[in-house]
Amino acid sequence: MPLFQNASFLTTVAQLRDLPGDALCEVAFAGRSNAGKSSAINTLAGRVRLAYVSKTPGRTQHLNYFTLAPGKYFVDLPGYGFAKAPEEIRRQWEGLIGPYLSQRTPLVGLVVIMDCRRPFTELDRNLIAWFRPNGRPIHILLSKADKLSRQEQTKVLRTVQAEIATWGDGAYSVQLFSSLKKTGVEEAEGVLARWLDIPLPVKAALLPAAPGKISANTKKTPPG
Ligand code: GDP
Repeated sequence: MPLFQNASFLTTVAQLRDLPGDALCEVAFAGRSNAGKSSAINTLAGRVRLAYVSKTPGRTQHLNYFTLAPGKYFVDLPGYGFAKAPEEIRRQWEGLIGPYLSQRTPLVGLVVIMDCRRPFTELDRNLIAWFRPNGRPIHILLSKADKLSRQEQTKVLRTVQAEIATWGDGAYSVQLFSSLKKTGVEEAEGVLARWLDIPLPVKAALLPAAPGKISANTKKTPPG
């Protein structure tokens, strides 16, 4: 059961002044168009089509907010990389996304989704280089991991780990993720729950047996 199963679409924001005023903390999701960002948000939120709302015409250049708990949000940023007029990109960046990423107080971290077969495109690097001076953590999801063999997965993970180790002291992390196979979900939930200060459900297996109850493994098997 996904941790953020109760997520629901809240609003689309086109201007800074419309950002929700009641936010306690929020995590932004960024990535190249087609990297698997909507699928990842849907997988984490346990919904089939939640983040596809962001792909509705008219909403693709905006910030889309999803509520996880009161005042706690996922924010879906517009995908980058599709050919756009430089003027349009500049306007979008300077008017909304740039100021949002650098000044939004409740923003507690950035998830960057990168197709594991093509990590660190130039635009990914630009975004990360630009965000890092803010001192907030970045978690990279290497998406579509199912497209690679185990060996290739390990290789790309190590390469990206080696690169982020050069970024210095910030809280930077990376993991493999597949929306198709639902792998990496718990690992991502762990990071996001920590950032958002949402308690992780205690696994039943880790709970001590209730007093007076005989647990399955201590029950004596009758002889014969
Ligand atoms: P976005 O543009 O970054 O939001 O990307 P989408 O989530 O829409 O995904 C782009 C394409 O990649 C779609 O055809 C998805 O079905 C596919 N895709 C997304 N996640 C996965 C995954 O984990 N595995 C595979 N094999 N395909 C995926």
